[in-house]
Amino acid sequence: MTLLAMDPVRRALTAAELTAIIDRVDAADSTGALLAAVIGSVYDTLLADIGLSTATMPEGQQLDPRQFQIPSTQWQAITGAVMDRAAAWGTGPQLTRDLIGMLPSIYEDPTAPVPDTPRTDRRPDLLELHITREAVDVIAAGTAHVQALASCYGPASEQHLQASTSWVAALSRLLSMGFGADTRVRRDGNLSLLVNTGSGFTFGLIFHGATRRCIAGDGCTATIADDGTAHALYSASVVVEHEHQPSFPLDAARPGSWSFHS
Ligand SMILES: [Zn+2]
Repeated sequence: MTLLAMDPVRRALTAAELTAIIDRVDAADSTGALLAAVIGSVYDTLLADIGLSTATMPEGQQLDPRQFQIPSTQWQAITGAVMDRAAAWGTGPQLTRDLIGMLPSIYEDPTAPVPDTPRTDRRPDLLELHITREAVDVIAAGTAHVQALASCYGPASEQHLQASTSWVAALSRLLSMGFGADTRVRRDGNLSLLVNTGSGFTFGLIFHGATRRCIAGDGCTATIADDGTAHALYSASVVVEHEHQPSFPLDAARPGSWSFHS
């Protein structure tokens, strides 16, 4: 494939052109059809200026998105319509990422027309959430762990706040429809979850527990196990012959926080 050699096309779409593009986006009935509709309609509109269309591209030649520019407000109107339409399938985040390299680039033109089309909420009415019973136990354990941190270190402690804010964020992500409305949740360790979304996206909500270190000083960098024994975690770790002082008590809840991993 070679890139089509042509003069750059840089212009605002007319209100009628932009409306027609958004209408085709709205009419798409699947993620694949949506991608084809937006790319086809945007480039057919711009290629018409030089008497071409995506269907009549010269043999073996490919469009170079860098040869096309549209106003940023119109670019946002198009990707906004794509996001709205894709909300039905939870594929908006992936599509938006793909579209950045496929749509024309942008320039600023505050006078470019942007039709005031009402935004439609296309998300399904219900989020279907399937949680295995082991994952139900993890969710209960996560909440209990946050409460244990509050009683060990105090409700206003860094340990409690860090865990509780990240736990709430993790639960909220679990309950979102951004990646589809059919979410399956499995256990992935005592305090961690693995999530599959309706759009085929998989992510983990993983608890990262703090490492208990020695804070007695003397240059000691030992880690302290739950039974109180000191270990050299790395070959360069220094285990000093002294009474080690753990960075958090042996019998206390382990500080840490949840984070999202895709
Ligand atoms: Zn020590």
